[in-house]
Amino acid sequence: MVLSGQFRNNIVSALAFSILLLVASCTNSNQNNDTPPTKVVNINRLPTPDFNADSAYACIKAQVDFGPRIPGTKAHALCADYLVNKLKSYGWQVQVQNGTVKTYDGKQFTLKNIIAEYKPDLANRTLLTAHWDTRPWADLDSVKKDQPFDGADDGGSGVAVLVELARQLGASKLDKGVDIILFDIEDYGQQSSSSEAQQEDTWCLGSQYWAKHLHKPGYFANYGILLDMVGGKNPVFPKEGTSVVYASGIVDKIWGIANQMGYGNYFIDRNSGETTDDHLYVNTLANIKCIDIVHYEVEKHNYPYFHHAHSDNMEVIDKNTLKMVGQLLLEVLFTEK
Ligand SMILES: [Zn+2]
Repeated sequence: MVLSGQFRNNIVSALAFSILLLVASCTNSNQNNDTPPTKVVNINRLPTPDFNADSAYACIKAQVDFGPRIPGTKAHALCADYLVNKLKSYGWQVQVQNGTVKTYDGKQFTLKNIIAEYKPDLANRTLLTAHWDTRPWADLDSVKKDQPFDGADDGGSGVAVLVELARQLGASKLDKGVDIILFDIEDYGQQSSSSEAQQEDTWCLGSQYWAKHLHKPGYFANYGILLDMVGGKNPVFPKEGTSVVYASGIVDKIWGIANQMGYGNYFIDRNSGETTDDHLYVNTLANIKCIDIVHYEVEKHNYPYFHHAHSDNMEVIDKNTLKMVGQLLLEVLFTEK
C-alpha cells in the first residue's frame, strides 16, 4: 500500500477511554454488594475462541517458504494452491476469481483473488480481507532495490491471521456469514517520490478487479476489515485516514473494542494520513464500508522501517501482535449483534 496524494495528518487528542474502563471495573469489583455488577458491554453470547498465534506464525512461515509471491512466478501459483486447500480444509466454500490485469509497466497477469465463504446462505455478512501477493522489488531499501523480499509482514501476516480465523470459525457455532477475500496484485504499484502525485490506481489491482466484478451479483457485507502489516513487533495501529473518511463509525467501533481488550497502547486514538490500500476500492467501487488495520508509525509519518525492504522477513514477526489482531477480530465477530 502507499500513502495517497492527499496526505493529511490530522492528529486527534488522545481519549482516556482505558481510564473510564478502569473506573468501571473498580466499581464492579464489589461482589458482596446486593446489586449485581453492571456490565460495561454485553459480550459472550457464544464464548469467543482463543486465537492461536502459533498457527498464524506457521502460516506466515509456510507462505515465506514458497518464496516471494510475485505474480507470474511458481511460488505465487504454489502459494495460491496452499491457501485454497487450507481454507477448504476448514469447511469454507472456496473459489478463485481469475482476471486479466495490466500493471503500470505494461505487463499482463492473470490474477487470483481467493474468496472463501462461511455460511454462504446467510444475508448478515462481514467481509475480512488481506492481500496475499508480495511486491516484486525492495525499492524502499538502500541496497538491492531491484530484488524481491520475503513479505513476511507485508502480505504474509494479514493472510495468516485470516487463515487461522477461518480455522477457528470452521470449528465454531457462529451464526453469521463471514467472507474472507485474499486479494492478489495489491503491491505492484508505481512508487512515486513524495513530491509527485501517487499513481494510486496502479496499486490494488486485485481489489479493483473484484469490486468491478463481484463474485456474486449484488454482493453486500455490513462492513469490511482489511489487514495489512499486522504481525510486526511493537506495532502502531492509528485510525487510518481513508478508513476514517469512508467508515469512521466502523473505525470507532473496532478501536473501542480494542481498548476494552487492553490493546489501547497499540490501537491508538490518532489519525494517520489517507493511504491507498485495498479498502479504498471496497469503499468507492463496491460501496461497502471497509477499514484498514495497518502498521503505520504516526510519529515518523511512515510505515515501519522494513516496509518494501529486505528486512521484511520472519525476524520482524511477533506472535504477540498476531495474537492481538486475531483475538480482536474474533471478539468483534462473537460479541456484536
Ligand atoms: Zn506493500
